[in-house]
Amino acid sequence: MPVSDPTDEEEAVELTGFAGRTALVTGGSRGIGLRTAQRLQELGATVAIGDLVTPELDDIRSVRLDVTDEVSVAAAVAQVSRECGPISILVLNAGIFRVEPFETVTLESWNAAIAVNLTGAFLCARAVVPQMREQGYGRVITIGSSAGITGGSKSMAAYAASKAGVMALAKSLASEYAPHGITSNALAPTLIETPMIADIGDLASRIPVGRLGTPTDVADLIAFLASEHAGYITGAVIDINGGFLIH
Ligand code: NDP
Repeated sequence: MPVSDPTDEEEAVELTGFAGRTALVTGGSRGIGLRTAQRLQELGATVAIGDLVTPELDDIRSVRLDVTDEVSVAAAVAQVSRECGPISILVLNAGIFRVEPFETVTLESWNAAIAVNLTGAFLCARAVVPQMREQGYGRVITIGSSAGITGGSKSMAAYAASKAGVMALAKSLASEYAPHGITSNALAPTLIETPMIADIGDLASRIPVGRLGTPTDVADLIAFLASEHAGYITGAVIDINGGFLIH
């Protein structure tokens, strides 16, 4: 029996579940969020990004969104659902990253990490989930971090704590909303080549597979979790780290 070629288009699995659906990607103006928005659009979803800046993008709606501001979240969610239709795919991606020795972490800096990475995800999910419940269908994908599992390499206390919190939030949503057709999963990436980690130095040597992750690596996993194929996956935290953390 011939061995099938995974590159053979006839053998390729085409992800479904995007036609007629609206996706909102927070922090989608660059990095993982932008690539995710493009991937979901390629698969047939109507896609909006929400970010502090609003770049002009082909075939992707761009709305102003500050995830830390309840009024901004309400306005952005209302605009996207009015202009694109009710949201059934939500990617909680907006985030900020700080490396600071613990004793120099100010309350302001701590609060900023929690506000964007944790409270921002809460505010966006709380604003969107009612629309999903009404549709009897939803996909919430939260971008956590391996730092939320390990505490991070040194000097990441606020970031690690915020990411642990947001991954627990994803699990909590999963159990509460499973009966409503809504799945909620988190990713725990490590060292994805985006502007966020531009200043960290030589990184690829730390990754067992020998390279950094790419935004496309992450976007492809998000697309699978957002598809119809992933309906039996909920409450999971999925590592995507090139073998950096095996536990
Ligand atoms: P980027 O810094 O490239 O993108 C983050 C985006 O979030 C930016 O567009 C940023 O906007 C936006 N953002 C920040 N604050 C807010 C806010 N208050 N409201 C709305 N948008 C906001 O980072 P990545 O693409 O690398 O990161 C995406 C997610 O992945 C983050 O949650 C990050 O923590 C996580 N992650 C990334 C890893 C990596 O190695 N890159 C590893 C593990 C997790 P602006 O530029 O205007 O500030």
